[in-house]
Amino acid sequence: FIGRVALGQNSQSLDNPFRLGVASGAPRSDGFVLWTRVAPDPLSTDTEMIGGMHGGSVAVSYEVAADSRMKDIVRRGTVLADASFAYSVHLEVDGLQAGRNYWYQFRIDDAFSRVGRAITLPAEGHNLNSLRIGFVSCSNYETGYFSAYRHLADEQPDIAIFLGDYIYEGLFQRGPKVRSHSDGVPATTLATYRNRHAQYKLDPDLQRLHAEVPSIITWDDHEVQNDYADKWSETFDDPQNFLIRRAAAYQAYYEHMPLRPSLSRLIGSTMRIYDRFKFGSLAEFSVLDGRQYRSREACYEPPKKGGGHLETRSGCAELFATDRTMLGQAQEDWLFDGLARSQSQWNFLAQDVLMARFRQGMDSNEYAYWTDVWDGYPESRSRLMNHLREAKVRNPVVMSGDIHSFWANDLKLNADDDKSPVVATELVGTSVSSPGPNYELYSKYVPNNPHVKFFESRMRGYVFLEISEKQVDVHFRTVSDVTNPESTVSTLMNYTIEDGRPGVLPA
Ligand code: FE
Ligand code: CA
Repeated sequence: FIGRVALGQNSQSLDNPFRLGVASGAPRSDGFVLWTRVAPDPLSTDTEMIGGMHGGSVAVSYEVAADSRMKDIVRRGTVLADASFAYSVHLEVDGLQAGRNYWYQFRIDDAFSRVGRAITLPAEGHNLNSLRIGFVSCSNYETGYFSAYRHLADEQPDIAIFLGDYIYEGLFQRGPKVRSHSDGVPATTLATYRNRHAQYKLDPDLQRLHAEVPSIITWDDHEVQNDYADKWSETFDDPQNFLIRRAAAYQAYYEHMPLRPSLSRLIGSTMRIYDRFKFGSLAEFSVLDGRQYRSREACYEPPKKGGGHLETRSGCAELFATDRTMLGQAQEDWLFDGLARSQSQWNFLAQDVLMARFRQGMDSNEYAYWTDVWDGYPESRSRLMNHLREAKVRNPVVMSGDIHSFWANDLKLNADDDKSPVVATELVGTSVSSPGPNYELYSKYVPNNPHVKFFESRMRGYVFLEISEKQVDVHFRTVSDVTNPESTVSTLMNYTIEDGRPGVLPA
């Protein structure tokens, strides 16, 4: 009698406990994480009935198959989904074959989830020929439809990488408004963060992408609060109070994402999500957390300067404090160690915010820098660039989001010296739906930043990469109209990154 007793009696949709869909993630060479959340009434605001459930726990059956028709079953079992984690399932499957697709499905009684696809990573050192990935960031439900997710799903990449701002905790501020956050309140508590995540997961394009394409994920700020930094809130909350809010946001994030429970359980107000994924000897992805461990915004100053703001170097000496960190010591050590040991042909850093220096304003004696991106942590960036050089890391490529615009950048050993050698390539993907920064204004600044090879903020979309031993083919894809749920897709730019030569080349 699995399940039935626990399903909410008052729900309108008892027939479908899997309305939030399914997802796979955190691939390993012998397994992966399978996710779902049992929620027959996902947007219920009754805190006694989380997602329309009555309390206690519910048994969820699962099957993993070697074929998409779920005939050749290689694993089956039952897991308990508990009220304490909003009836989410995070099933760590292991003991499978390396380097292949699997499919999976959940069931409660006679209610079946849709079938999802998962992958196992190739065996360590396997000579993989090619890898196709998409990366996305910044999907604001209120300011557009998620056609970018649909078109990325159409391309059937091996993996989709989410770089943050997967949800927006706040309410509509600017841009076109096409739909509303259902509860009409900013997310600040466990119940309201859960509600926000549930609403996003109901989007059909997002749901399809998750079912059809395995995910690798990290977060940025809006999963908690705009421009927060560790325990420092942009609204100057008492840090101890803000950590309570952060813990609620992190828990709701965990409950809705295919994260490994053995790595990403919430401990107090902390939750580790940084991780590394190796696709044989071809490519590895160091997935970073740029929010949880970072130093407070430089020149944080109530009541005005809480989050990102512009600072000049003479006006904010704190910018260059050598103890400022974007990643925190433990994550930086883990990253540097992994990069130094890497045998991979391509070394990707999947992370949240713009890494290249970007001088703003037109006064060459006193350029200004945005404090919320790596420009607010120049010593941290400098340590990373030096390490890439000294450890002779092969073909480093940084993937970034947050800034709602496409960029292709050279990352220089010394960010302030235009003649300094290029040590890495940075690709910045535009937003899925969030409105971009002022195109005319930023375009004026680009000539003062010669390492910026491409900038475009007027379009929404995603980035698609075809990775092979000799090169990475880069495609900037755009959707025709973010306010149209039937939006079409086209290609804005094609670039190539060649083995041994950092920086993009016209394709
Ligand atoms: Fe964003
Ligand atoms: Ca952001």
